[in-house]
Amino acid sequence: HDHPSLSKIVVLFAVSGGGLVAYAEANSGAQAIVPVEAESKKKRVVVLGTGWAGTSFLRNIKNPTYDIQVISPRNYFAFTPLLPSVTCGTVEARSVVEPIRNIVRKKNMDIRFLEAECVKIDAENKKVHCRTSNGTNLNGKEEFVVDYDYLVIAIGARSNTFNIPGVEENCKFLKEVEDAQEIRRSVIDCFERASLPNLSDEERKRILHFVIVGGGPTGVEFAAELYDFVNEDLVKLYPRVKELVNITLLEAADHILNMFDKRITEFAETKFRREGINLKTGSMVVKVTDKEISTKEKTGEASSIPYGMAVWSTGIGQRPVVRDFMKQVGQASRRALATDEWLRVEQTDSIYALGDCATINQRKVMEDIVAIFSKADKDNSGTLTAKEAREVIADICERYPQVELYLKNKKLGDVVDLLKESKGDVKEESIELDIAEFTSALSQVDSQMKNLPATAQVAAQQGAYLADCFNRMEQCEKYPEGPLRFRGEGRHRFRPFRYKHLGQFAPLGGEQTAAQLPGDWVSIGHSSQWLWYSVYASKQVSWRTRMLVISDWMRRFVFGRDSSRI
Ligand code: FAD
Repeated sequence: HDHPSLSKIVVLFAVSGGGLVAYAEANSGAQAIVPVEAESKKKRVVVLGTGWAGTSFLRNIKNPTYDIQVISPRNYFAFTPLLPSVTCGTVEARSVVEPIRNIVRKKNMDIRFLEAECVKIDAENKKVHCRTSNGTNLNGKEEFVVDYDYLVIAIGARSNTFNIPGVEENCKFLKEVEDAQEIRRSVIDCFERASLPNLSDEERKRILHFVIVGGGPTGVEFAAELYDFVNEDLVKLYPRVKELVNITLLEAADHILNMFDKRITEFAETKFRREGINLKTGSMVVKVTDKEISTKEKTGEASSIPYGMAVWSTGIGQRPVVRDFMKQVGQASRRALATDEWLRVEQTDSIYALGDCATINQRKVMEDIVAIFSKADKDNSGTLTAKEAREVIADICERYPQVELYLKNKKLGDVVDLLKESKGDVKEESIELDIAEFTSALSQVDSQMKNLPATAQVAAQQGAYLADCFNRMEQCEKYPEGPLRFRGEGRHRFRPFRYKHLGQFAPLGGEQTAAQLPGDWVSIGHSSQWLWYSVYASKQVSWRTRMLVISDWMRRFVFGRDSSRI
């Protein structure tokens, strides 16, 4: 009524496509459509990568108020724990992959996929620069830029060659589905080549020498798979060369499977040695040529190993785009992209990183913990009484669950017990907690809080955690539920990421698997192999891949593995 000129205008807003359009019915009675230059109100979330972390994020995101753009050079999710099985045809490559479009199609949300790789992250302008992937049908190299409000970096890592000469050119890697397929072809290739006439026995022996570098779970599993493939299937098909086959596993440390319980390591080493797998520990590769691997033993002795096929599996390094981005945000000297416990990249406000490309910066946690203590030390004496210390520790445990977890694992009530343990039998009332001393005691906690392992388990849990934060972003802005803020008042919006270790497997071949479950429960043998089958079948991302994987296992039981070189 106060604005007669406006009173006769009916404005209807409708959201159409990506933009907002206003329909105005003016006084004249004529209809006019006035496009309003307003952007979609939805927050744009760009997700880089369709691996464990990215896919888990996409599967768990539920809040329809986001406009989600997924960018990855591969249009599928790959179930990496089964890649060693793909190298020998125990499981087919297509059985372990699920199209990402299939995964997001089922969600009633605005999620789009672009098959391209991100080549540059421009944090200042909130843009990612992308290039269409190599190897697509079109073979084009189109470039484009995508804007974001939030960026989720989940682009994983690549194999680390430690710049050892010749590795990149001569070794196979086991990281992607294509790598597994290539290894499968190469193994058969070696057997076919070794069967050709006019070769000396020495040359045949070289061609049939398979060397695996790296005694971690992937290297060990591949060695075991290869041993089974050779002894269960290939020896029947290539009887003339079967005596010449050799498998060597090289590991720089003193033992293989270092991250597992000692019982598992011992069992695996004994099993491999009994089967005739040449296990060389304390052996560091220094150079690789097309026919030889040069090593240096711990004793200082150098040796040269002729080989036919070498698989490099010694750990992971950062992708170039992540390395460039780390320089941009002042993290050039780090091993991986450092985030806080809420998975946000340090020195940024809307970029999150998870999975193999990221690491939670625990040094910061330690700094915070020490600062909490100093704050509690009101008289600046450098000490706290046991009672004060307990209160502070309760506070720290609330903020940093890792500390609580560490104390629980050590079967200690709190850090005062930890100090008692290090100081010997002292009476609680007499404990004066020296902050400096405490810091050194906490270095044990620090090593416990060391980087999370680069596993699918961590990546998937981080993806689910971050999706949950995004789902509750608005609600939590109003009602923060996380731990108390150390700097300033109030609480954090979300609880920090908390990793829940569900155990790990190490398949050792011959239908035997080692399982290390929480609470140091170790099981090795055929029963664990069945546990492995059921866990991996249940963890498949779709019923389609579940059925494919199970039928591959059954096919292998009945007909053996296929040795066609296709
Ligand atoms: P990835 O799963 O590697 O996904 C990275 C994604 O980013 C991919 O989609 C990739 O195409 C995409 N990408 C790459 N570059 C770009 C770019 N420039 N722009 C956009 N996207 C990009 N873990 C376990 O817990 N248990 C196991 O048994 C196990 N077995 C394994 C066996 C093998 C052979 C391997 C290689 C790994 C295994 N792992 C296992 C480790 C596990 O696979 C990784 O920890 C996990 O894949 C990490 O997930 P991620 O999402 O960080 O990276």
